[in-house]
Amino acid sequence: MRLRLIQALLAVTVGCFVVATAYISHLIAERQTALQEISRYNIVWSVNQALVEFTRLQQRVAESAVAGSGVDADEVALRVEILLGRLDILDNGEAEGYIRRNPENVRVLGRLEETLVAAEPLLGRLGEPGTVLALNRLLSPLHAELASLASDARQTGDRRIAEDQGELRRLHRLFTGLAAGLILCGIALILLLLWSNRLLARSDTKLRQDQLKIVHMARHDPLTGLANRLRFNDELEACLNHANCGASSLTIMFLDLDCFKDINDTHGHLFGDEVLKAVADRLRRNIGDDNLVARLGGDEFAILLPPSRETHDCAGLASRLIAAISAPFAIDGVEFTIAVSIGIAELRDRSAEPGQLLKQADLALYQAKGDVICIFRFFEPKLEEDLHARKSLEAELRNALGNGELEVFYQPVIEVARDAICGFEALMRWRHPERGMIPPAEFIPLAEEVGLIVQLGEWVLRQACAEAASWPSEIKIAVNLSPVQFRDRSLVQTVVSALAASGLTPSRLELEITETVLLDRSDRNVAILHQLRGLGVRIAMDDFGTGYSSLSYLNSFPFDKIKIDQSFVRGLTTSADSLAIVRLVAGLGSSLGMTTTAEGVETEDEYLALKAAGCIEVQGYYFGRPTPASQIDLDRQKSQAGSRSAA
Ligand code: C2E
Ligand code: MG
Ligand code: MG
Repeated sequence: MRLRLIQALLAVTVGCFVVATAYISHLIAERQTALQEISRYNIVWSVNQALVEFTRLQQRVAESAVAGSGVDADEVALRVEILLGRLDILDNGEAEGYIRRNPENVRVLGRLEETLVAAEPLLGRLGEPGTVLALNRLLSPLHAELASLASDARQTGDRRIAEDQGELRRLHRLFTGLAAGLILCGIALILLLLWSNRLLARSDTKLRQDQLKIVHMARHDPLTGLANRLRFNDELEACLNHANCGASSLTIMFLDLDCFKDINDTHGHLFGDEVLKAVADRLRRNIGDDNLVARLGGDEFAILLPPSRETHDCAGLASRLIAAISAPFAIDGVEFTIAVSIGIAELRDRSAEPGQLLKQADLALYQAKGDVICIFRFFEPKLEEDLHARKSLEAELRNALGNGELEVFYQPVIEVARDAICGFEALMRWRHPERGMIPPAEFIPLAEEVGLIVQLGEWVLRQACAEAASWPSEIKIAVNLSPVQFRDRSLVQTVVSALAASGLTPSRLELEITETVLLDRSDRNVAILHQLRGLGVRIAMDDFGTGYSSLSYLNSFPFDKIKIDQSFVRGLTTSADSLAIVRLVAGLGSSLGMTTTAEGVETEDEYLALKAAGCIEVQGYYFGRPTPASQIDLDRQKSQAGSRSAA
């Protein structure tokens, strides 16, 4: 604001300078004109000179009459010539203007000229008597008129001198005033410049402070006050440039809070912010003075351990950080704990790029997050190899469906009471052109991670429904649903569409879900399960007993079927506990009105034990392996079941 004012004042002052300078040059021009006017004083002199010459002529004429005076006709003629010359000057010279201004002047000079012309013939007869008298008579009347003209010229000259002096005085005053004005403007200019300098210095200091603030903001996380990604990367790069000294190499740690999203969802983002600040505090207190901790974004933190003379105890530091962060928090009266996973990467190759080290720490973190027991992991080259393998598998899987490499196999499910096939489970297969058959355990988790399972699951559902529609009406079809498919809003619509397209009766379709579906966004997923049930479709709980609290999940939704995990079947004949559990689940299913199916039955003993335990259905290699639809022979499988019951 003030600078603007100074700028305006400076502009005005400079404008004054320009105007004053222009005016001064105008005055100088005026002064020059005034000085030129001085030449006008020659007019007075010229007119007076004419009078003097006229008087001399009269004198010479008079003297010529006196004997021995030495004045002859030539002398008088010379005087006449001189006077005519004067007349010419007055007529055409500088005095012309003055003469012409007044008609009386013109008349007097005209008369003088006429008189001189009239006098010329008399000059030749000057020696004759009466000539001098005649000349005198001719000239005398003009003397008074010329004297009056000279007097008028003098008065005019005096008046003009007074005017010119007045003009010069005025110009002098103006010059003095302007000079004083210019001096004042100069002083004002200096003062303004000093003022603006002071303001500039002040604003420069403020600018520098603001710049420091901006630099700080650009390099720090505003929420936690920790370094941000930019500063972390800069310091990492700087460390990499000097990484070839010390006993321990440059190390970075990536930290990621586990299930932080749930805290945000449950308690709100402001609460989440407080948690992040508290975590940042704990990190700051535990990392040591030489190390840098940064928040990279969201719930991701990173620690930079520069190369040092002493060995880094990375495992010790990681354990301390895990202990510090997982200690209970109390925020706004809410007590809770939070877990953290850590990936650690040490610089092995000195020519490594910062991005490479970050990627390694990220890979180690990814590994740690998938690991339940170990929550910090060091980077190993194998992780990189695994990542590449995973990436190429992912790219191939994306094309697998279009290339017709995916197939659906069907495994029979036997109803124990009738010892007859009551249904099939649809199981996905990937026939890889080079690697052969890839089991679902290898590609389904990957498809879930990259979201491809939504597309693949829909394809299996449509295939299975279409296939089952061609089977006898008492045979059901079971299709596995991934928890990731529940995140897709169109799941129910997809099922409706698959049923409609195949013409399969909804009650013949059984959808198998795992406990993860109820763990992950349970309320929403339970609502979806109810909608599916509303279509007439049956819902089965797969792999029962492998989760943390399988029993409690039975409470959250009225399942139609419980599929006892094959790990219990495997131990049936050797472990009394497994048998007890299977009996318990079968009893539970019966009292809750749910069918119980035992999976992975491989031997007759297992089958008989399950039958005795009260399982309603069984499924396993003992009855039939998963096969392509083309190899299903319902009649043959029926006869096999018959021979089993005879045995
Ligand atoms: P699941 O749903 O529990 O399927 C049963 C698994 O046990 C199948 O493995 C089947 O081949 C295997 N199995 C059956 N009887 C026996 C036996 O007697 N002994 C042994 N050792 N294994 C037996 P598979 O086909 O490898 O499938 C593994 C898992 O992959 C499935 O477990 C299911 O969770 C998942 N899966 C398979 N197909 C799909 C699918 O289309 N969608 C989804 N979301 N998951 C699928
Ligand atoms: Mg299943
Ligand atoms: Mg299962």
